[in-house]
Amino acid sequence: MNFKKRLTLSPFLLILCGCAFLFYHTDELAVYESDHFVIYYTNDSKISSHIKSTSQSLEQDLDWLCDLLQINNNLTIDIYIYLTEEDVPYEQTLQSTFSSGVSDGLKIIVCYESLKYSISLLKEVIIHEYMHVIQYTKFVLLNIGIGEGFATFYQYIYHDKKDDGNYSYSGIFQFFINQVQLNQLSAQYHPEYLFSLDYLGFMNVNLSTLDSDRHNHYFLSASFVCYLVDQYGVGLLKEWFNQTNKNNFIQHFNQAYPQSFYEVQSLWIEKVNSLL
Ligand SMILES: [Zn+2]
Repeated sequence: MNFKKRLTLSPFLLILCGCAFLFYHTDELAVYESDHFVIYYTNDSKISSHIKSTSQSLEQDLDWLCDLLQINNNLTIDIYIYLTEEDVPYEQTLQSTFSSGVSDGLKIIVCYESLKYSISLLKEVIIHEYMHVIQYTKFVLLNIGIGEGFATFYQYIYHDKKDDGNYSYSGIFQFFINQVQLNQLSAQYHPEYLFSLDYLGFMNVNLSTLDSDRHNHYFLSASFVCYLVDQYGVGLLKEWFNQTNKNNFIQHFNQAYPQSFYEVQSLWIEKVNSLL
């Protein structure tokens, strides 16, 4: 695709894919502030009756996750919770489904209707997007595949912890592989390939229909991040993430880890294939 066409399509695809956002506004929105969040929300009882408890619980959950990630979180970010898709400003001109995304690396935008008005899903999605904020601001990780793997992995750790107070890496790894709609891995699903993709490639967008089939990409990337944290801990993961993009991720990996990217990838492929 040439650059001009890509530029024309980009705003549509970003919304369709739900991981970036261009416009937001604060008119007619109510505000609730806590230590790490300024939450702007559509002033409707469906949301407003839950805002205080949701914010308090998110503050605690975030503390727990930042301890797990061994990071000092001094960020305060804006979260925009819109009630319906019509309330999301950009949706007024588009007919596509938007659930959540991050704008400017620091603002989280969520559509409550797309999350079936579920508070527990709302919190999970905010945690997922917050992991993107952390990866941009704390690690300067600019690799879409690794970033989605990281955010999805910690979203599910949070999900597991929430259910019964506990989580297990092997259980989460198994869960990710159970979600994958394949019998065997081909090269197009290896981390080497997934992490070399740009935004449109990773979101697997069909340019004729603008449909996005990213299901396997998300879960396989998340399983690779899970495998690394299980084998080597979170410290090396953060070292790998430092200033990493789609051109230098193998070189940065080899500098951070005791085994090479290709050695670890082979072990991961073996493990995934044994579970498929
Ligand atoms: Zn994401």
